[in-house]
Amino acid sequence: MTDVTRRTLFGTTAGLAGAALITPALAAAGRQEPQALRGSVQDGKVSLPPLHNPSELNGTVPNPMPSGRRLGVAVVGLGTLALENIIPGFGEATSVRLAALVSGEPDKMRTVAAEHGVPERSLYTYEDFDRIRDDPDVDFVYIVLPNALHADFTIRAARAGKHVLCEKPMAASVEQAEAMVEACRAAGRRLMIAYRLQYTPEHRTIIEMARSKAYGDVRLIEAVNGQNDAANGQWRQIRAMSGGGSLPDVGLYCLNAFRYITGEEPVEVTGQITRPKDDPRFREVEDIALFTLRFPSGVVAQGSCGYSFHESRWLRVQAETGWFGLDPAFGYDNLVVDINRKAGRASATEMRRFTPKSQFAEEMDAFAASLNANEEPRTPGAEGLQDMRVMAAIYQSAATGRPVAMPVAMPAASGLDVTRGPWPKALGPFVPA
Ligand code: NDP
Repeated sequence: MTDVTRRTLFGTTAGLAGAALITPALAAAGRQEPQALRGSVQDGKVSLPPLHNPSELNGTVPNPMPSGRRLGVAVVGLGTLALENIIPGFGEATSVRLAALVSGEPDKMRTVAAEHGVPERSLYTYEDFDRIRDDPDVDFVYIVLPNALHADFTIRAARAGKHVLCEKPMAASVEQAEAMVEACRAAGRRLMIAYRLQYTPEHRTIIEMARSKAYGDVRLIEAVNGQNDAANGQWRQIRAMSGGGSLPDVGLYCLNAFRYITGEEPVEVTGQITRPKDDPRFREVEDIALFTLRFPSGVVAQGSCGYSFHESRWLRVQAETGWFGLDPAFGYDNLVVDINRKAGRASATEMRRFTPKSQFAEEMDAFAASLNANEEPRTPGAEGLQDMRVMAAIYQSAATGRPVAMPVAMPAASGLDVTRGPWPKALGPFVPA
């Protein structure tokens, strides 16, 4: 395209707003370009006029930060979650960029680096990971390793001066989780546990309905999370690597949801586990876990999880005048909010779906917002540590056959959300659907 043609097409005025552009077809028809449809730039952000009537859903321009201002992230461990979900999620993130990779498989790492434009100097092995200290491109590391390795790499990252986003479950034991919190505190670095669902509009809708008593007091919360896992000897089936079976892997989502929906901490926990004898998957870890949590307000919650049944992931909050929940509730996409209540002489069920967005982009952007504001993340180490303590109580109850009273170290009297930081302001206020 020649310069002259380019000017004719795009005009010479800076910005979109005022560009006096007449396309040849409109010029031939003697018409002006409709300005409103060209969008505008305000405070450095592009916006477009709505394409549809207010009765319809309209999109939004994502307006990512310029690349140089986004926080750099080193992804540690290039396995299933990292390659299938987290690294693709950078494409939808607005305030982070993939800056470095850490892996024990050099060929795989170089291939992924080439695919995503990560330079050779930003590739690390587990052995030379500590050299990340001298990498100014890395603001935080995202640990996506088997559970038993989370503590070691969190501690090394904090000592190297990096903030840490760590996958759930936080660790393979309470002691490891405590050491992670302490190491980050001592190094003055932030630690966030990657509870992706807490940052989604679907789960925030459920939290809002419960806390605002949209359907009266919440009485009972129920949830199931499970799938049929392959018998391939993966680290999840080795207790020393995982810290447990389906409970820390998928049951944790139910347990964490019970805590963030109520905002309370349980005062009593019961648990049961099953471990089929002849199934090689369950030589060391449980298949099914059933657990109940009793909260100070009187709410009770009942969760179940497993590794031997077809994928099933749902959550339901039973309140006085209606129920609301999610089905599916815990996957990476397609979450559906459903609500059932009385409508005149009928019982009405309503479904709500939000515009899809990578949950991994949402959680990484949330961490970046907390770091930029120098605030504790919404789901800090204390949030993960409390889940580790509740899971330890569930296992204890399963072993003894008795309910376990939770220590009063996390008193209900001190208010709601005692293990959580503030919602990052940069995310804007939550607008319920
Ligand atoms: P994978 O087994 O698929 O990947 C783990 C990666 O860790 C490996 O590919 C390997 O990467 C690295 N690794 C380093 N040392 C070991 C070792 N001794 N054994 C096995 N792998 C090792 O696991 P996932 O990706 O499924 O899970 C990783 C973490 O993410 C876990 O903590 C899990 O609980 C969590 N997770 C969270 C989910 C969520 O929704 N938030 C969903 C799924 C998992 P490399 O070859 O590059 O060294």
